[in-house]
Amino acid sequence: MSITIALSKGRIFEETLPLLAAAGIEPLESPDSSRKLIIDTNHAEIRLIIVRATDVPTYVQYGAADIGVAGHDVLLEHGGAGLYQPVDLRIAQCRLMVATRVGFDYEAAVRQGARLRVATKYTESARQHFAKKGVHVDLIKLYGSMELAPLVGLADAIVDLVSTGSTLKANQLVAVEHVLDVSSRLVVNQAALKLKRKQLQPLLDQIASAISC
Ligand code: ADP
Ligand code: MG
Repeated sequence: MSITIALSKGRIFEETLPLLAAAGIEPLESPDSSRKLIIDTNHAEIRLIIVRATDVPTYVQYGAADIGVAGHDVLLEHGGAGLYQPVDLRIAQCRLMVATRVGFDYEAAVRQGARLRVATKYTESARQHFAKKGVHVDLIKLYGSMELAPLVGLADAIVDLVSTGSTLKANQLVAVEHVLDVSSRLVVNQAALKLKRKQLQPLLDQIASAISC
């Protein structure tokens, strides 16, 4: 039986490589130099597929991939249906934060009960966060370049991923509130785990034992 692993290009692919290597899996091509979306590995029965980060849970949910690597941010938006999430891989670490323009008094706006306009790709996580705080918000769904929204008057605040903060700084924005810590997790199709356990379990175990603490 063959195994298909869904990964996204960029940091998740790069940071997953050492974990796959620990399980003896090496891709025969790099998604950066190849335009192929299906990448063979040194094991004839194991292949990688390259999909958008937000699509990884969907491929695994429907069994088009047996396992995948997806950010906690992406998994919260997806909802996790049909997915077994055995391990936090501790890669692609960042934080989901509320950010505003420098000079916007977020605390005062919240205290005064102002209705805030918040632009984000992460509407589900944002909705839960502000509901828990009892803050009224109008959420505006965006698909990228969230930093622009407060600069052109689309929103008072954004909810976005932050690691070093340099993108915020470059756009005269500042993080004002922590929403959640994010890292990437291994996701496994629940039916595949039953059907292919003999092949999948050792792979999951090897990946898990290679995670850095
Ligand atoms: P895309 O541009 O398609 O959203 P990214 O490579 O930027 O893809 O993000 C993929 C995943 O990597 C995100 O879902 C998140 O979990 C994580 N991530 C995003 N930005 C950062 C960051 N600045 N530092 C660390 N991890 C990040
Ligand atoms: Mg990105």
